[in-house]
Amino acid sequence: RSATALALLEALDPEQRDVAEHLRGPMVVLAGAGTGKTRAMTHRIAYGIATGEFGVHDVLALTFTAKAAGEMRARLRTLGVPGVQARTFHSAALRQLRYFWPQIGEGPFPELLGHKAGVVTRAMVESGFEPDRETVRDVAAEIEYSAVSLLGIEGYLESAHTRDLPEGIDADGMGRIMRAYSEAKTRRHLLDFEDVLLVLAGTLRTREDIAAQVHQQYRHFVVDEFQDVSPLQYDLLLQWLGKRDSICVVGDPAQTIYSFAGASDSFLLRLATRFPGTRTVSLVRNYRSTEQIVQSANNLLSRTGPNPLVLRSTGRDGAEPTYTEYPDDTAEAEAVATRIAAEITAGRKPADVAVLFRTNGQSRAIEEALSARGVSYVLRGGERFFARREVKEAVALLRAQASRREVGPLHETVGEILLNVGWSPEAPAGTGAVRERWESLGALVDLAESMQAASTMPVPLEAFLDELADRTEHQFAPQINGVTLASVHAAKGLEWESVHVIGLSEGLLPISYAKTAAEVAEERRLFYVAITRARTSLSLSWSLARQAGRQSQRRPSRFIAEVRNPPRTRSGGRGQDHATGRGALPGGPARGGAAGELTRVRRAHADNDRVRRPRPRCRTCGTVLVDAVEIALGRCSACPADIDRD
Ligand code: ATP
Ligand code: MG
Repeated sequence: RSATALALLEALDPEQRDVAEHLRGPMVVLAGAGTGKTRAMTHRIAYGIATGEFGVHDVLALTFTAKAAGEMRARLRTLGVPGVQARTFHSAALRQLRYFWPQIGEGPFPELLGHKAGVVTRAMVESGFEPDRETVRDVAAEIEYSAVSLLGIEGYLESAHTRDLPEGIDADGMGRIMRAYSEAKTRRHLLDFEDVLLVLAGTLRTREDIAAQVHQQYRHFVVDEFQDVSPLQYDLLLQWLGKRDSICVVGDPAQTIYSFAGASDSFLLRLATRFPGTRTVSLVRNYRSTEQIVQSANNLLSRTGPNPLVLRSTGRDGAEPTYTEYPDDTAEAEAVATRIAAEITAGRKPADVAVLFRTNGQSRAIEEALSARGVSYVLRGGERFFARREVKEAVALLRAQASRREVGPLHETVGEILLNVGWSPEAPAGTGAVRERWESLGALVDLAESMQAASTMPVPLEAFLDELADRTEHQFAPQINGVTLASVHAAKGLEWESVHVIGLSEGLLPISYAKTAAEVAEERRLFYVAITRARTSLSLSWSLARQAGRQSQRRPSRFIAEVRNPPRTRSGGRGQDHATGRGALPGGPARGGAAGELTRVRRAHADNDRVRRPRPRCRTCGTVLVDAVEIALGRCSACPADIDRD
């Protein structure tokens, strides 16, 4: 093994090493938040390449958001293996579909339907309904659900009685709308988001010649955040694999937050059943957060019974999370913004701070409060950056000026050109669309500045256009400077030094329409995702009324009590070591030195094995669990609740 390969292993703890070294055959990594799943996975790829087991071009790394894919590429680049394909399922599928289109489709490649709203609206009108914004959104969500669940229109209609149908529309009406929507796509030569995956999976299933070419290209597959895989994505993955089994998936069942959209953590289980000889590894130490934050996450996790994926901290000490109640939304936003401004004054970088919320509508008050304090912020995670109108306009304009020769630094040239599409050096007054537009354009100027900073000569505009073309191909948005404002869904997999979770009242988290126990459990997992994004500082807040001067209408979220207190054990005591993570680590906090840390980690594991634990039982039916995957998921594979869609 080369020095490079060994150095890669050095950066991992023993369990993560197991992941990196297992290069042949199927593997499942089940582990809690911040335990280094993504890190183990990227190191595994780099190690596979360093040892010659993998070729740079025969690995396909898959994840769910463009931002996560971009981060993965950045991590791989730092590990010395640029050029590995790290993509979202969608972007990988789209690329292949475009390539094979001349062999499978008619005419030019179809136009991609970014948003369904327009076509859905028309389909509703054709079917005799009066569309309003909310119903259109709900209908679009049902159409998406039917596709990602592989139900098709007929299958969906058969199971429609189990769905909460859009207001004022019965199953019959849904059927008419869905058919009209589908016909409109065919007529107008359109593919929606899900069609890209559906058509490709169908092609690979029926066209051996094309499947053979794809199998020839990609031999090894890794998937991050596998707990959120949908039946459609899983099906495509199986087509990509064909008869091979070089597949490594990592996931955390406690972070399943897309089951409303058809995703299911049971695929984590099914993978081990489907591929005999699957190796299962569990990572236990949370490297991301302070002991106090890990403790809070465990309090929440333990609400569903003894959880084997409970986190152990590395003992890094920090402040206790803060819990604050405000009279109304404005007061909450003002106070949170004031705290953030103070953090920044004290030296924290805006990009190290995030404000997370359940629904996008909650961002407005905090935006205004931050603007008033001159704190820059990023509203969206850079998703679909290159599809934004202002970015398209800017790129077109830059292209038109491509032949322009070079007098000054790149960012000055770019800035000057972008003045024509509404960029300005100073932030504009106002929030919402105006602000977003300015941010997007500013991100382009910043990108130009960072390219210029890396060069001693003036960088030509052509080089900038090449960079943009490459990033557009990968849907890799440039870094936008500022405090991140994001929904919890968009924050998955990411981390910040300081995280403020706002709006923690009943009705917002859990959201008002979460009624069944399963729906509330998904809301709890969302909260778990939110708090585990924080490295050092965590602030949780809520308000009692929407508007100032109103009577209190809200109660604090039930999750606040859960996160503050470890659940009582049966003997009446408080949560013991396995729930708190305390005491499991002899020698206390890590005292520096990678080798010392490794020894400590090994000792901690050995020690943990000696701790007597209750026999794990299935959460649903109570059967004693024996299989490693079953234990990690807390469910038996034979449980009726898990027999689905096969
Ligand atoms: P999530 O569940 O949120 O996706 P994750 O399990 O993928 O989290 P990572 O993002 O890979 O976790 O790692 C969390 C943080 O811990 C990162 O900053 C990572 O660099 C750090 N980390 C992980 N493993 C180690 C290690 N062995 N030594 C030092 N730092 C580590
Ligand atoms: Mg991760």
